[in-house]
Amino acid sequence: MRPVVGRFAPSPTGRMHAGNIFASLMAWLVVKSQGGRMVLRIEDLDRQRSKPQFIDGVQRDLEMLGLTWDAGPFFQHDRDEAYQAAFDKLEAQGLVYPCFCTRADLHAASAPHRGEKLVYPGTCRALSEAERARRAAERTPALRLSVPARTFALNDQVQGPYQQDLAQDCGDFLIRRSDGAFAYQLAVVVDDAAQGITSVVRGVDLLCSTPQQLYLQELLGFEHPAYAHVPLLVAERDRRLSKRDRDASLEELLARFGTPAAIIGHIAWLTGLAEADEPRTPEELLERFAVEKLPQLFNDPVQIPWR
Ligand code: GLU
Repeated sequence: MRPVVGRFAPSPTGRMHAGNIFASLMAWLVVKSQGGRMVLRIEDLDRQRSKPQFIDGVQRDLEMLGLTWDAGPFFQHDRDEAYQAAFDKLEAQGLVYPCFCTRADLHAASAPHRGEKLVYPGTCRALSEAERARRAAERTPALRLSVPARTFALNDQVQGPYQQDLAQDCGDFLIRRSDGAFAYQLAVVVDDAAQGITSVVRGVDLLCSTPQQLYLQELLGFEHPAYAHVPLLVAERDRRLSKRDRDASLEELLARFGTPAAIIGHIAWLTGLAEADEPRTPEELLERFAVEKLPQLFNDPVQIPWR
């Protein structure tokens, strides 16, 4: 048995809010209830949107809430060499090709239904070398990874069995953007492996990315972590809480509830982790938490209305 290692992986694009406090609390409970260790990884891949004040802020927020970590913070901004090495490995397998499609081309090519992923139709997959050279002179391409027509399946600790045929349900996906930045899917897989992550707990909005990550792990020779995709707190049906819901921001939560333990207690009560709406520390919630309960923990494993 590998020792359990989990992670907080916040993107430092704002202060914490009820939604990511809940996901972080769940990650901590899942890992600590198994005697595991937590890693803090700051996902500042998107350099335009990541702000230094939020990098500090998210660490202070986690600390204040009693969500402790044992290693890190690790940052994505100084991991380019590792991402490049993984990228080279994929390229050496003949699986990477340049894509010249604009955002508009992609949207025109298929009309996704609400909540469905945009399936890349393979427009640039079979361009000739001459055509690639001609287009590259006009526009720096993004880089895509070819996917096989194969099913990638997992047994999620909350959502149960989930699978995607990557060719049909996803299509070839981006691993590097045209501005040179490595894509989330590649970075997250490389970092999870390098940091020894065995337990990934995050919002259910990322469940549909997991088959892509399983495929990348396979190509790069990494072990698969266990996955638990937890419900999203929603402002209203099908609209997740976000930074624009000011009442769910940590500042407002402190004003409303007074103490970090009262915030944690409220979120725990709302989501079914605790029976009463009373102040609770993560440590206190840990006493009655068990991973085995995950499949039955939530009445609705997909969304929980915030109030
Ligand atoms: N950085 C992502 C977020 O804040 C999480 C990515 C992950 O957990 O894989 O939504």
